[in-house]
Amino acid sequence: MKRLAVLGSTGSIGTSTLAVVEDNPDHFEIVALAAGRNLDLLRRQVARHRPALVSVARREDAHALASELPDTRVVWGEEGLAEAACHPDGEMVVAAMVGSAGLAPTLAAIRAGKHLALANKETLVVAGELVMGEVERAGINLLPVDSEHSAIHQALRVGPEGSVSRLVLTASGGPFRTWSAEEIARATVEEALAHPTWKMGPKITIDSATMMNKGLEIIEAHHLFGMPADRIDVVVHPQSLVHSLVEHIDGTIIAQLSVNDMRVPILYALSWPERLETSVSPLDLVNAPPLSFEASDPTRFPALRLARSALQAGGEMPAVLNAANEVAVAAFLDGRCPLPAIAETVETTLEAWASRNHPLTSLEQVLATDFEARKLAAAGMRKYETVVDRSEIRC
Ligand code: NDP
Repeated sequence: MKRLAVLGSTGSIGTSTLAVVEDNPDHFEIVALAAGRNLDLLRRQVARHRPALVSVARREDAHALASELPDTRVVWGEEGLAEAACHPDGEMVVAAMVGSAGLAPTLAAIRAGKHLALANKETLVVAGELVMGEVERAGINLLPVDSEHSAIHQALRVGPEGSVSRLVLTASGGPFRTWSAEEIARATVEEALAHPTWKMGPKITIDSATMMNKGLEIIEAHHLFGMPADRIDVVVHPQSLVHSLVEHIDGTIIAQLSVNDMRVPILYALSWPERLETSVSPLDLVNAPPLSFEASDPTRFPALRLARSALQAGGEMPAVLNAANEVAVAAFLDGRCPLPAIAETVETTLEAWASRNHPLTSLEQVLATDFEARKLAAAGMRKYETVVDRSEIRC
């Protein structure tokens, strides 16, 4: 029986994780759940899984829940998240919060010696070297939940380490794969949220529409697998059935295929190095759509280039990229700017930061960089609120 703490239990990955747990009651048990503000769903999760500890974002919600749950320890805020991450009975933490807010509790879990199933890719984007250093020091297992990185984790186990020549991340291309730049500039929030192959939380869905998600994944793969960025390629694969590939020096390419259901990589992360049966139907190869692959378009989707340049610059730049992206995605979701403003804001924020970039040495420095870069990005976004004709972007 593996005992789990789930951070972000009410989100897309969190609910899929609990579905995997419910599917495998003899293998997994929940000891702690941490959510933000969705109390209705959290109440149902608590009734079903009876965790010893529950954490929520706000003090008033914690007080309300505590009076309903006399047998459960209810905590809140950043300290509550850290307590959930470090619960003494937890063996593995599923880091499924969204954004750089996931960094501190994830680091706390690692330092407490918990194995990690990591969905919160922003943690590795903003502080990859620090996090991987802590993983090594703590001697814990870090299993990626992202389907692409799960695929690579599996494909890497086929040949000797030194024989790998290239990692290839697949990208669905998002809802605007075939749209012109002019059409993308007029895309509505609803259109951007209509992902063709995956049902996910709003932030990662917008990241998929701009392809920033793939940029973040290049940085994630670089840290997870110790691969230089120039040996991590991206190929657009609209069917999302090949989840990524590893190319070897002898020309062999190992691919991982499965249906596009996050319960598959989540189960792999939770059960590794074992494999468990799933109730998810396997991929029906005969009736699957033909598999196709194409290059991504750097003109319509500049986010990939921005992520690569932030990774190459190193230091604080990936944290700046992430902070500016989080600010701009939130503005787009609020209807305060058109979609291309996201990459534009990331680019101008990176440019403004370039002359003051420093090597990253501490969590405090990451948090300060995140804070300052958000202010810079928010200031840069004000121009869209005055120049954008809201009727044009139909937000
Ligand atoms: P969601 O937006 O669906 O869920 C986010 C979760 O984080 C919710 O449970 C939310 O709580 C919680 N949360 C947000 N802020 C706080 C806070 N301050 N304190 C505590 N909890 C908080 O996101 P996803 O599940 O889509 O994504 C989660 C992570 O996984 C992201 O980093 C994403 O990039 C990554 N990922 C997601 C995939 C997917 O298929 N969804 C695939 C691969 C990676 P509440 O809702 O209660 O407010």
